[in-house]
Amino acid sequence: MNATQTTRKGYLFIVSGPSGVGKTVLCNSIVSKFAPAVVYSISTTSRAPRGGETNGQEYFFCTAEEFEKSIERNDFAEWAFVHGNYYGTPRRFLAANLDAGRHVILNIDVQGAMKIRDEYPESIMIFILPPNFDELESRIRKRNMDSEHSLRHRLENARKELDYRDQYQHIVVNDDLAAATGELTGIFAAYVQNCQVEQPAAK
Ligand code: 5GP
Repeated sequence: MNATQTTRKGYLFIVSGPSGVGKTVLCNSIVSKFAPAVVYSISTTSRAPRGGETNGQEYFFCTAEEFEKSIERNDFAEWAFVHGNYYGTPRRFLAANLDAGRHVILNIDVQGAMKIRDEYPESIMIFILPPNFDELESRIRKRNMDSEHSLRHRLENARKELDYRDQYQHIVVNDDLAAATGELTGIFAAYVQNCQVEQPAAK
């Protein structure tokens, strides 16, 4: 490699925020704008697929027992028990993409985010906020994909998650989806477009 080439690994972006705030829609929009430089880390979960979800697309679905075996094998860069189910970030995908100079988005809860930050202190931490709690509650109720019990659990967790917002470098309020997408795009662009990734050495 000659002196003008840089050896920077990809950036790791952590996107968190309470359930129903619109993280997944926002992350999908970032991936479609910045692909292939930015890739989405597909988590593994023990929760059941919802209607329309496909294994390997939104998540890798498995049983709680399979998940626990993966924990023992140290397959996850982080994992957490969220809303009564396991969720984890596959370690191999993350390391391989960062090493290849691609930027990775993790859409993970606040517990997982704190663990990843310990391991990857240079992570760019982004928190998505709802305009207010009443609006969040009504969005979660409208999605109406969970039982009443699970819904209450999500609302309780949402309040706890909001307490972590000060741990994040960037806060995006998702009041208007187009405006929030624009703001998030600006944050990614500032890092991704200024990033020179490792080039294969000339032979
Ligand atoms: P949902 O069941 O609605 O898809 O996701 C529930 C929550 O789990 C969301 O806050 C989401 O960000 C979080 N989550 C998804 N994947 C992971 C993961 O791999 N690790 C952690 N810690 N949280 C995750």
